[in-house]
Amino acid sequence: MMYDIVIIGAGTAGMSAAVYGVRGGRSVLMIEELSYGGQIINTPEVDNYPGTGKVSGFELAQQMYEQATGLGAEMKYAKVTELKRDESGLFTVHTESDGDFQAKAVIVATGVKNRNLGLEREEALVGLGISYCATCDGAFFRGKKVAVMGGGNTALEDAEYLAALAEKVYVVHRRDQFRGDAITVERLKTKENVEFVLDSVPEKLIGEDRLTGVLIKNVKSGQERELEVDGVFVAYGHKAVNDVFAELADLDESGFFDSSEDCTTKTSGLFVAGDCRKKRRRQLLTAGSDGAVAAMTALDYLNTL
Ligand code: NAP
Repeated sequence: MMYDIVIIGAGTAGMSAAVYGVRGGRSVLMIEELSYGGQIINTPEVDNYPGTGKVSGFELAQQMYEQATGLGAEMKYAKVTELKRDESGLFTVHTESDGDFQAKAVIVATGVKNRNLGLEREEALVGLGISYCATCDGAFFRGKKVAVMGGGNTALEDAEYLAALAEKVYVVHRRDQFRGDAITVERLKTKENVEFVLDSVPEKLIGEDRLTGVLIKNVKSGQERELEVDGVFVAYGHKAVNDVFAELADLDESGFFDSSEDCTTKTSGLFVAGDCRKKRRRQLLTAGSDGAVAAMTALDYLNTL
């Protein structure tokens, strides 16, 4: 199966690239490990994407998917385990379960993965009190006590979402200033069931069969406190997962693709787009912009073959 462009990852960057690729008259396949949409499917409300107004992340992802596939892009759900380029310049994208796909150009738009707490038994308690997605799992904690870990926009928005469901929401953040938007902090301050636990980090997860609490330590005073909670929502941001492509594209010290705004790599015909790329601002709009740039540069490259 040969395509002009194979796009690895169908988040905002990948689907934007697909739209530009098919509109450029090329055959395009998106390969996605999980579901299309990437991180936005976990965002209850998107309010900063021009032209859409308030829209749920899931709905916006669906619109992007319908637009890309409606124009002719194809979609395959599979995990990419290897990427090779032969001497003639042809790429082979190897997947775990669905064999190989060949492409004249490849755009990697794999996004990022959740950063975890790094505490003992964290993995064992996933689904038993530990969650990385408030909109996916929040409903299980209706009328219960929960803690949100982190001080970025995800943590703040998760806390706001959970405050409408849970009896009590602790927001545990390692500093006394939030990284997320002040406007959301102000809204949270007005909610009676939200408590900020600042300058604090989680030390230990408590509970045998399922989570019953979390031990918190104040980093300034050294004082410890146990929060009795049924759920902990981790919102520590994200990390890069680009190792599979490290032979063909340079990575920075944090594992992000070391590519500039033109989305090119050291390998001709290989482009990178979206949050997987080294950049200061990671937003829906910047991911979409990268997808467009990567696809247009890929189209220029294909025209030279
Ligand atoms: P983020 O902005 O990177 O925030 C991660 C938070 O976790 C930070 O407060 C950080 O603390 C904390 N953290 C990370 N590692 C930690 C550790 N080991 N121990 C304790 N705390 C730790 O991630 P995000 O909130 O997921 O947001 C990612 C991007 O998406 C951002 O650009 C954000 O603006 C954007 N976003 C936008 C919206 C929206 O506009 N509607 C919604 C969600 C996300 P420090 O602050 O001390 O570093």
